[in-house]
Amino acid sequence: MSGAPYFIPYGEALEILAQYPIQTQTEKLHLDEVFNRVLAVDLQSKVDDPRFDNSAMDGFAFRHIDSLQPPSLLSIVQTVQAGTGENLTHVGPNQASRIMTGAPIPEGADAILPIEFCKVSSDGKKVSLLQEGRKHFIRKKGENLRLGQTALSKGTLLSPSSVGLCATMGHSHVDVFKKLTIGIISTGDELRLPGEELGETEIFESNSFGLASLVSMNGHNSIRYNSVSDSIDNLRVQLDKAAEECDIILTSGGVSMGDWDLVRKIMEEEGDIKFWRVKIRPGSPPLFGFWKKTPLFGLPGNPASSHVVFRMLVSPYLRQSTEGGGFQEKKVRVKLAESLKTNRECLVLRRIKIDSSGKHLLAYSTGYQGSGNLNSLVLADGLTLLEPGHSGEKGTWCDALIL
Ligand code: AMP
Ligand code: MG
Repeated sequence: MSGAPYFIPYGEALEILAQYPIQTQTEKLHLDEVFNRVLAVDLQSKVDDPRFDNSAMDGFAFRHIDSLQPPSLLSIVQTVQAGTGENLTHVGPNQASRIMTGAPIPEGADAILPIEFCKVSSDGKKVSLLQEGRKHFIRKKGENLRLGQTALSKGTLLSPSSVGLCATMGHSHVDVFKKLTIGIISTGDELRLPGEELGETEIFESNSFGLASLVSMNGHNSIRYNSVSDSIDNLRVQLDKAAEECDIILTSGGVSMGDWDLVRKIMEEEGDIKFWRVKIRPGSPPLFGFWKKTPLFGLPGNPASSHVVFRMLVSPYLRQSTEGGGFQEKKVRVKLAESLKTNRECLVLRRIKIDSSGKHLLAYSTGYQGSGNLNSLVLADGLTLLEPGHSGEKGTWCDALIL
């Protein structure tokens, strides 16, 4: 072994990763292209939102004082639609303006009554207000955002609503971090692509597909390389190619202690290992280091483990290279509805279903927790964060990551 930190607590692994940030460039893109990208600047609004006082309802606008004793009979002086409304007539005593949602409030008016509580006379000249007017149906200028206000900060992963907000604020283009290119190399003699014929002892290769999906969820690009048989020479060729083409390399499989664990072996002999093995369950084998100056994560081969390790180690590393941006799991506090196995040394990440129908969030195991059982991850809403030595007894509280 290379002398690099070995079998370290999860927190220490994060600290080591933080020492090797990747410099990420930025680019300016049109809003059509920025969904799920990471914002590279603080973004200020170019307008007040709303831009002017406007109606939240279709109905009538009038002076509130004229509606205090319903029914109130008012004269209709005009109709104001959204998008029109220059030179509006002032609304005086016992007058009302027909108004549509989003239309500017004519001067004088300070209350709205929705159309369903108004009765218009047969000649269309008068309206009877059946209730008192509502002042809060006037949306006030700047009540959502002020001109110049920073509403989205650097590092935000742009969700559908935040892309909309960029437009609300008047930006047609925004600066985002360039996508990183992440190479994914699976290793193992037994792996065949789905769709191919399987030999007696062969299996379908699944990790590269799951990992590529996680990469795109984080707002980056992946290159899925053909899986490599368990041969040091083939692995070296593929790693060299990936180091040329990618910002980060992910391998899957071959990082345990076995004789055929060639990723570990080649990294020990020809790479630069920064840590190997982390105290998390599942997923303790991972390795982090550099192959010819390119950061490399050696993820475990077991499908559930490779996924969990991506979320626990690779996701934070990607976020750090985009100023905290990127896909981010949310944490909740759950009560164990059944006993789960914990560990004295390791952070235990059990796949759980979360029942939110009662007073507390209750956590149930998704069933057999074998590290090869991807289905148990598909069924999961979250992962427990049971600290080393934490009780796993039914009724215990712990944090959980929402998946
Ligand atoms: P390894 O870490 O190479 O010892 O692999 C651990 C287990 O995961 C073995 O049962 C492998 O067959 C399986 N495995 C490794 N890589 C993959 C992969 N890319 N897709 C699905 N299963 C895999
Ligand atoms: Mg293997």
